[in-house]
Order: sequence, then C-alpha cells, then structure tokens
Amino acid sequence: MNRGQRIIKLPDEVVSKIAAGEVVVNPASVVKELVENSIDADANSIEVQIKDGGKSYIKVSDNGFGMSKEDLLLAVQRYTTSKIASIEDIYNITSYGFRGEALASIGEVSRLVITTSNGNESNKLEMVGGKVIKVSEIYRERGTTVEVFDLFFNIPARRKFLSSEKIERRMVTEVIERFLLTKPKIKFLFKIDEEVVYNAPSSNLSERFKLVFPEVKSFEEIDSCTDEIIKISGIISSPQFFRKNRSGQLFFVNGRFVLDNLLHLALERGYGEALTEGTHPYAVIFIEVPPREVDVNIHPQKLQVKFSEPRMIYDAIARCVRDTLRKFEGFQMFVEKI
Ligand code: ADP
Ligand code: MG
Repeated sequence: MNRGQRIIKLPDEVVSKIAAGEVVVNPASVVKELVENSIDADANSIEVQIKDGGKSYIKVSDNGFGMSKEDLLLAVQRYTTSKIASIEDIYNITSYGFRGEALASIGEVSRLVITTSNGNESNKLEMVGGKVIKVSEIYRERGTTVEVFDLFFNIPARRKFLSSEKIERRMVTEVIERFLLTKPKIKFLFKIDEEVVYNAPSSNLSERFKLVFPEVKSFEEIDSCTDEIIKISGIISSPQFFRKNRSGQLFFVNGRFVLDNLLHLALERGYGEALTEGTHPYAVIFIEVPPREVDVNIHPQKLQVKFSEPRMIYDAIARCVRDTLRKFEGFQMFVEKI
C-alpha cells in the first residue's frame, strides 16, 4: 500500500479492467449478457454450453439477425450499441441491452471468439485480453456464436475469487432457468460439459414452469390482473408446495429478472394465512409497468430496480395473488378472511 503518494491518472488498460469487473463478475453474468444479446437480436433458438462451470469455456449461439463486419468490429469496443441513441431512450427501452459494455468487458478479461452472419456476410473475430488479434471471413448460417475461453486469465486475483465449479454451474443454470421462464417461445438448448441439461422446444409459460419446477404438482396462472397502469401475470403454486427459502420465487419487471425483497413479501402477503410459518410457495411473477415508472439503470448488472410508486406495485401483487388463490380448492376460506 502506498499511502501518501501523489495522485495519478490510472492508465487506460487499468481503467478498462476495473470497468469490465462491473459487468463481468462470474460465468453466470457472462451467460446473462450473451443470452440477452441473442434475444435482442430476435433469435428464436439459443444454445448455451459451459465447461468447468464456465470458467474455462462458455458458448452462446443464436439464429438472430447477426452483424456485418463493420458492426462486429464496433460491437467489441466499449460503449458501442445499436440499441439507444440518446439518454431519453433509456426510459423507453424495450431491449435488454443499452450500455454497450458487455462484449467489450468480456473481451477485456478473456479470450473471445465471435462468429456472425447477417445473411449477406459472415465473419470471425478473435480477441485476447481486450485486443482484436484477427478478423477473417468464414461461412456460417445467419446468427451469432460467442465463445469465451479462460475467463479472467489475465486477472489472476479475480480468477481465484471464482467459486467452485459446482457453485458456478448452479448460478449459470439459474440464469438459464430465468430465460426459460420469461421467454417460453424461444427454443433453448443448455449443456453442461457434454450433457444436455435443458432441451426446451418453443412452448408456453405453464410448460416451462413444469420443466423448471417439476416438483410442483399444483399451480395456477394469474388471470389478467391489471390495475390502471400495472399488469401482473404469471404462475403461483398451491400453498402445499413450498420451499424452506424463497429460491422458488422469481420476479420479472418488464421482462427483466429483478431482486427485491419487498416483492417476496408482497407475494406472501397475498397468500396470507394460507401459508404456514417458514414455508415459501413457488411463484413466477411478471410485472409490466410503463417504462417511465421504473428505473432499470441503477445497477450495472441491472438486477435491482427502482419503482416510482413501490406501494402501488406491492399492493397489486398481493391482490392478484389473493385472487388467484381462490382457484385452489380448499383455500377459499383463507382468502375470505383477508
Ligand atoms: P448492448 O447489448 O448494451 O448494446 P453489448 O456489448 O452487449 O452492448 O453489444 C454491443 C452490440 O453488439 C449490440 O448493440 C448489438 O448491436 C451487437 N450484438 C451483440 N451481440 C449480438 C448478437 N448475438 N447478435 C447480433 N448483434 C449482436
Ligand atoms: Mg448486451
């Protein structure tokens, strides 16, 4: 530690590694960013593979609209995006991406290979530790494949902080499960090493719920539950099916997975006395609000959100859950009491 030294301006290569660490924290965050890009590219079929918990290899392949060579070269630079053009746009955002940081950040801390075709031209780009080392013409079908080798190979301290293969694998699987639930129309193939974990054809929410939570034998869909400006939909389990923690409860705001303790509490308030203490039902809840009611820009990984009227959202969730609970036989009496 050199306390008392003169202030210096950090070299660009240090700045870019620090910035990369905001977006890329582990294999799961890489998979999240890459799958979001595939969805933003209108893909209807996405394949993900990881090896060694994603630490040595991650592949995300899609049949989306791909990129031209010119765009491919821009895509791996920092703050380059095709998704917004001005600051106002982020309050009307319909894509997952907008920061233009993911590919650059991933490229900064790994060996990255991208192949892409927009139907007219097909190219391959290779990058090592933030530097493009080769661009070549190839042949492939329309779409994009991103391969990430040896995450954090150039930041050993960071690599050491990755969790065990088992934990990294689990976190990547959870990311995939969120996409399975929120994008049921998109076909997903997910492999860990050579083993197929999910091979999910295009389907609907209820089928995807069964795939992700096969242990839940009784659940109901929330029927069109709308407030003036909020729309709540999704699936909740019968109170008889629960976990001892809240890991079976997922919330999405305008299609984005979010973490917010109050949402869990609102959900369970909706169940009221139907829940025994220490039991937590399963739920997949989609909250649709006008983009101006929610700020998705407060966290680099975009997991936290800020509602302009939180109270209104929580009340709507509790009410919609309570109404849906009536559909389960034997639980009407609990509902009447609330
Ligand atoms: P962002 O998603 O915030 O725009 P990224 O760094 O993730 O930033 O991607 C940069 C750009 O690269 C995107 O705006 C998009 O134009 C292009 N891109 C990235 N991934 C894909 C993909 N799978 N298919 C087509 N274009 C892509
Ligand atoms: Mg992106």
